[in-house]
Amino acid sequence: MTDTDHHAARLQRERTRTFDLLVSLSRDFDGIVAASVDSNADDEHDPEGSTIAFERSQAGTMIEQTRDRLVEIEAALERVHDGTYGTCEVCGVPIPDGRLEARPTARTCVLHVAGVADQGRRT
Ligand SMILES: [Zn+2]
Repeated sequence: MTDTDHHAARLQRERTRTFDLLVSLSRDFDGIVAASVDSNADDEHDPEGSTIAFERSQAGTMIEQTRDRLVEIEAALERVHDGTYGTCEVCGVPIPDGRLEARPTARTCVLHVAGVADQGRRT
């Protein structure tokens, strides 16, 4: 098994786990939304309603973060498929294995972590 295979296997597991989490978060979110419908739409004057509104926004944030994470994992698996996984997107050097171990979705070497935002300048 190569290092890439090893990281790819981890990413696959992480994708399954993240996907399951997203499904259960969405279910919770639906539950909260349903509860807020039940409790009458008068959020402003109903203390119960504002708690539900808060929970709903918290849950929404969690869902967004989890979805972003899933997108990152998908993109990393895509790079495994393309054969570009483990190579810095900015300078093209191999990303050290220790970094991929800590962060399997890493797209750049340590030097270019902050530079990802302006990678558009490349080419
Ligand atoms: Zn680099």
